Amino acid sequence: MNNNLKSYLRHYHDTFDSHIILNDYYESIKDCKKCTLSKSRNNLVFGIGNPEADIVIVGEAPGKNEDLEGEPFVGRSGKLLDKILDSIDLNREKVFILNVLKCRPPKNRNPKPSEIEKCEPFLKKQLEIIKPKLIIALGRISAITLLRKKDSLKDMRNKIHKYEGIDLIVTYHPAALLRNPNYKKPTWDDFSFIRDEYLNGK
Ligand code: URA
Repeated sequence: MNNNLKSYLRHYHDTFDSHIILNDYYESIKDCKKCTLSKSRNNLVFGIGNPEADIVIVGEAPGKNEDLEGEPFVGRSGKLLDKILDSIDLNREKVFILNVLKCRPPKNRNPKPSEIEKCEPFLKKQLEIIKPKLIIALGRISAITLLRKKDSLKDMRNKIHKYEGIDLIVTYHPAALLRNPNYKKPTWDDFSFIRDEYLNGK
């Protein structure tokens, strides 16, 4: 067998595996009742995108629209996230998008530490299956959960952190940009850095 064929088959096998494994994993957790959020949810929001993506984007928790549709970032923040991704030639088919919490906290309150603790193993497992080269943490909750530190978002920006050996970059949550347009420029800087360092033929 020539090397091209071998590498194609290996790629095909890996791709096939991560789709199936991720789907099986979804089936195994979709009825989760580990915390009380399961009582008020319409859907467990597992995540969406390419199971073999090089980039995984991690938000905080589903909101009302996400809970109803079962898909992350479909509301106003999501539309803005799509625009930001488009500006560096990315989209939902090229990345994988998920949240720290899989179920919506009532009235979109902040996740409780006990909820994060119960839900985090799902996130960890998803990252193990997808094996991205870069994680983009949107907002402080996502960043402090993954990095296990309590720094401010400002202090965590402009650095390449590591999560289980994977590069991790922290930037503003799109909802913060909707509240405060001053965050647009630094967010653009972060995504330009990502484009230059992780895309562009790499
Ligand atoms: N905000 C998030 O952090 N995640 C979503 O899925 C939607 C809004």
